[in-house]
Amino acid sequence: MNAEALQGFADKRENQYRCNILHIGMDPRSSGFICFPNENSCQKESAMRVKDKVAIVTGAGRGLGEAAALRLAEEGAKVVVSDVDEAGAQQTATKIREMGREAIVVKADVSVRQEAEALVEATVKHFGRVDILVNNAGITRDVSLRKMTEEDWDRVIDINLKGSFNCAQFAARFMIEQKSGKIINLSSRAYLGNPGQANYSASKAGILGLTRALALELGRYNINVNAIAPGMIRTPGVTSLGHFEKIVEKAIQNTPLGRIGEPIDVANVILFLASDESSYITGDVLHVTGGRYG
Ligand code: NAD
Repeated sequence: MNAEALQGFADKRENQYRCNILHIGMDPRSSGFICFPNENSCQKESAMRVKDKVAIVTGAGRGLGEAAALRLAEEGAKVVVSDVDEAGAQQTATKIREMGREAIVVKADVSVRQEAEALVEATVKHFGRVDILVNNAGITRDVSLRKMTEEDWDRVIDINLKGSFNCAQFAARFMIEQKSGKIINLSSRAYLGNPGQANYSASKAGILGLTRALALELGRYNINVNAIAPGMIRTPGVTSLGHFEKIVEKAIQNTPLGRIGEPIDVANVILFLASDESSYITGDVLHVTGGRYG
């Protein structure tokens, strides 16, 4: 089977986490999965890079959060699948259990402090600790400055920025006691500023400040705090936008690698930041944009 045919085979697969053609040793991000031409024979050779670590992933009912939860589980983590959408979270947890890993679902709106606290409490009650927090839950409310309401502003800041602060603060209490932890915050290339996204861009720039401040405060407790700034990634949150086709075209034109990203592209970087491989990186931001900045 030539490279083109292999690519077609991988593209056909709905579940990119189990069998992604980028992961057959052709790419340095290789996850250790080996794909065979027979579609039913995708053999797993996980390196267990986060074996027995307890990971909370917020907004894990779909999109990047789901991809991160599955990727961490594949590499041995016990995952707390959290989302305001309980049905979505249940589906992600089912996929994790089907791969023979442990998962629980905790419904939580990260913008509500009591719910963020209850999420971390439930994690520690069930698994005894919390090693990894992926602050992924996020929304957009795109509208020009002239038309942006106070509610548009507050909702985006409350979920994206305050939600990350809430979960980090409660998780850090346990991580400080453990003297170890990894906090990974989802920023966005939009922190550089996007028209029609004053609220979103501000929230994602704020996440970078939050990340740096927490890295400085928590380093002494062996807690790494980093951010990821993805470019455009094909998730339900993006494909459901009315103007999706138009923005994809523009994104591809401005992306040196000539494509938009897939959830696995970000999930692999989340895994890296959650694993010991990144133990001397903190307060940093990794851009997962295909080289796009403008
Ligand atoms: P998505 O809309 O596909 O999924 C987001 C998930 O978060 C949903 O399951 C939703 O129910 C959940 N959620 C929303 N509000 C919540 C709340 N208050 N509490 C808990 N959960 C909540 O989004 P996505 O594209 O997967 O994006 C995930 C993260 O990555 C977001 O922070 C987003 O800003 C960031 N990001 C995405 C892209 C992209 O192109 N997809 C690019 C840059 C950054």
